Amino acid sequence: MLKRILLIVILSFGYFTCFSNEINQKDSSKSKVISFKIKLKSEEKAKIKVASLKYNKHFAYSFTLDDGYRSAYLTAFPLLNGGKISNPDKNEWKIDQGGDGTTSKGLFYSDGFGNKIPFKLALAINGGAIRDLPANRGHLSWPEIKEMYNAGWDILNHGFHHATKHGTNYLTEVNENTTSIKQNLGFTMSHFVVPGGEGDEKYYLEYEKDALNNGHFSVASYYGVGPVFKIDSKMNLDKMITARTFVQSSKDTTSFKTMDRYLKTLDSIVKQPIPVWFNEFTHGTGNTNLWNLSMRFPDFKYYMTTLADKYGVKGNDSVWMAPWQEVYEYIWLRDRIKIDYTQKGKDVEVKIVIPEIPEAFRYREISLAIETSSKFEMESGKDLIIKNDGKTNHKLIHLKLKQ
Ligand SMILES: [Zn+2]
Repeated sequence: MLKRILLIVILSFGYFTCFSNEINQKDSSKSKVISFKIKLKSEEKAKIKVASLKYNKHFAYSFTLDDGYRSAYLTAFPLLNGGKISNPDKNEWKIDQGGDGTTSKGLFYSDGFGNKIPFKLALAINGGAIRDLPANRGHLSWPEIKEMYNAGWDILNHGFHHATKHGTNYLTEVNENTTSIKQNLGFTMSHFVVPGGEGDEKYYLEYEKDALNNGHFSVASYYGVGPVFKIDSKMNLDKMITARTFVQSSKDTTSFKTMDRYLKTLDSIVKQPIPVWFNEFTHGTGNTNLWNLSMRFPDFKYYMTTLADKYGVKGNDSVWMAPWQEVYEYIWLRDRIKIDYTQKGKDVEVKIVIPEIPEAFRYREISLAIETSSKFEMESGKDLIIKNDGKTNHKLIHLKLKQ
């Protein structure tokens, strides 16, 4: 609660966590150039710039479910992605991790080209807790995680055993989890979320150091930058440590007042004229408020549905509801490309220098905002897939780089 109040105070002063430090581009030798042409209907000068966020959305909202609890698959995933939400379902801990048994059509924003994209979250998981049995297990199984990953959910490293107590080998916790996910799911995680709990004083500093020195681009911890980021200028993403804030149900099970308070804060953030990225967490999303650190399913459903109705395709379509890694990678690339264009009459030639992109990245995409009163057509460039709205709104171009 205190954190919330603090956040509102900070925002009311128009004060955001923001860095615009110089970003060193150490090695430009492996960069490559892509080019493509735009054919305008008039000779009026067009302006092109890289969009602050994918699809030129006004704000990005990233939401992570910690600890790999089964409710993620039983309730959150079908609600957001579309599907049958589990009936109430008591697990091995006698805790109801199910939902209301309804069928969801999914919650969506659009890509600006008429395609609906489902809301996606991240899972911060501990490989040591993942198993296939018993049937009423409290944690996710490997096939369940794989299905969510394949649907675009991000998987973040949360340590192999969620160990925090005195005597924990932090480095082993970080690396064993990396290995476990690589072995079982076939990819390398690149962001770390410090497990919370009892431990030596400032134990989280050890986790931060070991994660950042072993292949992770960012760490969500107790203290750090965020959770709101102003992203209209260059952002310092290098060895980034962020502060984790949670959305949690209260004891009040008769109204949605607690959720309304969170939604109100979010609304005050996204009402700012500048584009922002907001990052939050919870634990379980089943009917019971798991360990009193979770969102009860009715609260979760209310919260996400309200977001979708307001900022998704059913509302003003201003949200990019995407997990942490996806947004991080967009901003990383956005801040490192160089765009150049020349216009001769109705023809615009665009050249973009692309830096070497880290292997662990899932995405290689860039949106361009084009300012022109003219409709336009485009021919596809080499090594990239282009989407554009030249025939309708003539505002947006989206580039997907081929590997
Ligand atoms: Zn945790």
